[in-house]
Amino acid sequence: MRRPILAGNWKMNKTRDEAIHFVLGVDYKLPKNGVDCIICAPAIILRDIVKRADILQVGAQNMNENDKGAYTGEISPIMLKDTGVKYVIIGHSERRQYYNETDSIVNAKIKKALEYDLKPIVCVGEDLSERESKLTNNVLERQITKAFEGVEFDDPENVVVAYEPIWAIGTGKTASSEQAEAACKYIREKLAGLYGKDVADRVRILYGGSMKPDNVAELVAQPDVDGGLVGGASLNEESFIAMSKAFKGE
Ligand code: PGA
Repeated sequence: MRRPILAGNWKMNKTRDEAIHFVLGVDYKLPKNGVDCIICAPAIILRDIVKRADILQVGAQNMNENDKGAYTGEISPIMLKDTGVKYVIIGHSERRQYYNETDSIVNAKIKKALEYDLKPIVCVGEDLSERESKLTNNVLERQITKAFEGVEFDDPENVVVAYEPIWAIGTGKTASSEQAEAACKYIREKLAGLYGKDVADRVRILYGGSMKPDNVAELVAQPDVDGGLVGGASLNEESFIAMSKAFKGE
């Protein structure tokens, strides 16, 4: 049985005060078991959140693939570890699109995150023209194969994949539960090809893209959708709490 995840991706939103307000208002209202609730916050406020979070777990949104050195403006895995975060989003489509993050950089970042016991949340997903050209599976196959090339891990629960169709991110256009399930199932099959079925059956695969309180239950009811990576709707305290209640057993 895979433990579901509700992960908020705040992107470049919230000041330190706003973040603290959110954590103090939300943390004690979250389910104590049955779901891992995570907030991926801007790096500059991670420590402030870790210090105040009890049920909430904390993740970063990006990480450099080197230990340290002359990389002005970058954040190393050592620095992330130092804040106390447990997760890090790798290869979000906004990073691929605006910061030229390639499949091979994504691969290097996943390896580096695991080396430092940070759990990568690896984002994959097709754009609109690729979906319309029926290339979704080709894109997912390429991204998964390249992202996990040479990647080894002991515990499949430490690796999370997020299927995030680019056409659904921030657009208000959510994938249907059938589309989300088909893609997550396909990703699991690809992981099974790389690591065997037993391992693939334990990796958590999330859906992301305009997830919100009124569609989360249907999406996470799908057999291969183990939760959500939520942008816009994770910024609001009430909607984050509402989404956390949508998971089975709560
Ligand atoms: P959204 O973003 O929920 O605002 O569509 C999801 C994401 O980019 O992770």
